[in-house]
Amino acid sequence: MPDIFSSLRQYAIIVDVSTKADGNMRLLDEPENDTAVWKNREVFLKRHGIARTQLVRPEMRHTGNVAVVGAQHSGERISNTDGLLTNEQGVFLMVTMADCLPVFLYDPEQHACGLIHAGWRGLDADIVTTGVVLMQRAFGTKPQDIRMVVGPGIGVDHYDVEDERAKVFQHYRGAVEKRNAKQYLNLSHVAHQQAERVGVRGEHIRIDSTCTACARDMYFSSRRDRPAPLQTQMALMGMPLST
Ligand SMILES: [Zn+2]
Repeated sequence: MPDIFSSLRQYAIIVDVSTKADGNMRLLDEPENDTAVWKNREVFLKRHGIARTQLVRPEMRHTGNVAVVGAQHSGERISNTDGLLTNEQGVFLMVTMADCLPVFLYDPEQHACGLIHAGWRGLDADIVTTGVVLMQRAFGTKPQDIRMVVGPGIGVDHYDVEDERAKVFQHYRGAVEKRNAKQYLNLSHVAHQQAERVGVRGEHIRIDSTCTACARDMYFSSRRDRPAPLQTQMALMGMPLST
């Protein structure tokens, strides 16, 4: 298995994506009382020495909104956002996904990180661009310093979309592939180009090519698993407190 985070391992940060073996990470109807899912999350977090109370998570409504958070948000869910940024140690960001992309951003100069939940709606709303621009504004980040990793998501081969949706991404190089009468969307191409357009260097961008729909034993997939209730993996990123 390729280590998608190898480009980030040299820095004192924690980054990971859970797998099916870690269990479902998607909360059900009463989020704070969903003990089974919180148990899964806590076991996963504990492996990294992180407590649930250190997590900050976005509501994830497929928006293009990104927020800056800190210790005062610990344990909270930030409404109407899909991406979070922090430059505080001991604050850990999480998103859940099962086909949408987790996008990890790290600035090793200003010691700031970001984690974005990016599906087609978020990308249509320029969420990766917004994340990079907000890192500049909030932390003085230079885009050329950013290391970006795009985690596992639905691969182009399994992501056929309607004409309307394809049209939205037509202007991204190679993002829409026509095969027979169908159109297929490559979400990671879109994320990559949004980052490059605002100054992230191509050589600092790593894309995990694992397709969640193909990797049946490893990941949940919204498309593949339908009509079963949606289960998800979680992505985690943050900077531990220095000792
Ligand atoms: Zn696939």
